[in-house]
Amino acid sequence: MAYDFVTQKLECALKAMTSVIGADWIQSRDALTRPLLDAYEPDALKHRAGAVVQPCCTEEVRAIVRIAAEHSVQLWPVSRGCNLGYGGSAPLLAGSVILDLRRMNRILEVDTAGAFCVVEPGVGFAQLSEYLQREHIPLCPSIPGNPTGSLIGNALERGIGYHPYGEHANYLCGLEVVLPTGNLLRTGMGALKNGSCWHRYPAGLGAAWDQMFVQSNLGIVTRAGVWLMPEPEACLRTQVALPNFSDLEWAIESLAELRLQRLVEHPIIVGNFLHDAAVHSHRNEWHSDDDTSIPDAVVTRIMDQYGLGWWNFPLMLCGYPEVIRAQAKILERRFAGKVHYPLQFEGWVRGDAYPSPLATAPSLTGLKVVDWEGADGAHLFSAPVLPAVGRLASYHARRSQRFFELHSTDYCCTFVVGPRHVRNINTILFRLNDPVSVARAHALCGALIEDAHAHGYGEYRAHLDFMQKAADSYDFWNHAQRALNNLVKDAIDPAGILAPGKNGVWPKRLREPPSC
Ligand code: ADP
Repeated sequence: MAYDFVTQKLECALKAMTSVIGADWIQSRDALTRPLLDAYEPDALKHRAGAVVQPCCTEEVRAIVRIAAEHSVQLWPVSRGCNLGYGGSAPLLAGSVILDLRRMNRILEVDTAGAFCVVEPGVGFAQLSEYLQREHIPLCPSIPGNPTGSLIGNALERGIGYHPYGEHANYLCGLEVVLPTGNLLRTGMGALKNGSCWHRYPAGLGAAWDQMFVQSNLGIVTRAGVWLMPEPEACLRTQVALPNFSDLEWAIESLAELRLQRLVEHPIIVGNFLHDAAVHSHRNEWHSDDDTSIPDAVVTRIMDQYGLGWWNFPLMLCGYPEVIRAQAKILERRFAGKVHYPLQFEGWVRGDAYPSPLATAPSLTGLKVVDWEGADGAHLFSAPVLPAVGRLASYHARRSQRFFELHSTDYCCTFVVGPRHVRNINTILFRLNDPVSVARAHALCGALIEDAHAHGYGEYRAHLDFMQKAADSYDFWNHAQRALNNLVKDAIDPAGILAPGKNGVWPKRLREPPSC
């Protein structure tokens, strides 16, 4: 009976939505294949959406939201739905309707002197890069490891890129948001009818709301200002390879200081050997035993083959040639005696051919990491935040590596170094069609989250299957933050329709849901 009622509600809502956006832009549940929802989800039914709706403009989004509220149908907004390793386009709650915003893909404005753009949610990194190059606009977007996604979706998930504007959520400035009631909001200076500093000044007067819509389920962002780095006069880039696992401790210590002193201004992405090697070869070329992780002797052979260290990271300096040359000398001094070769810098000056060391051309190479496990390779992430303290990061890496070994999984990770914190992104590689491999990956992800929590580290981002667990670890004062989240959720989304369960926040009528 309950199922029939739910189906009936959904059908009524879809009928009403069809009258607003047209049948061509609604895909029914039967049309939804796994790759369309989440290419890396082993259980096709677990997060199966009720339908996908694809509005073309803010007014259509508003209408869909109002219909959803009227029929108590849940919506799961995505921009381009490429959130690979965290759930793709799929909703947490099966039966939710995916609100896919990829048709809203206009670059609304590029202000070269002000160094920002205004985009709709469907605008992808490649699209913006191509546009800027075609129009000879000297602005550089920061591009993440997975460049197939959108500027807005990635920033809303606190995605990371490789250049100085790489903390994407920090470079959002001024949002247009459809609230779960269907009302429209423009944040900050956009709250003035004729606000001309909407995308230049991030606050307004009083509380600032942009960050309230980041990693939350409180609104649907239909356009955003994104600050872009002005093209520098010159760049220098070097790749550093550290030979030993134990190098991580001093590396984190030194790199965090370089970040604190602002000598290096981009997130420094320190990857282990497998993070780089996995994109070049398949596991079975190196090691045929599925029940053990790759042994040390194989690790050495892989490092030799690809000229990798145990840890590898790029460093980039951008700015005026005289300044960055002097900065490069400081880096050379800093690493002398630590690496057994002088740092080699690759240079670029304005006017040189692209790609510059800023890598303005998005590359799909990083996505090949899943090929390590073969044709049905997939991954999921666990990503705790640690203090930028070498000793703690190194101890954490040892523990994590041990967990990977216990779950017969190859240790693959990065440490993203900021000035005061480090994000440890563990890439858990597995085979979709092998139930043993899937079970191991999920057990490992759970174990890593629990271990991080035991040491006082919370996840910065979580896969659908682990959102609740990750949110539960934020437990100070009997989950006081959850109580606040609930209060805000109920006030802003009284019908409880928007992305229920996202990062552990449920609307009143769905609290204490069955465990997912
Ligand atoms: P990408 O742009 O990288 O493909 P997604 O579109 O998959 O990223 O978005 C990642 C997550 O961010 C979604 O699952 C959703 O929770 C949230 N999100 C994405 N776009 C929006 C949006 N326009 N408004 C509100 N939340 C969004």
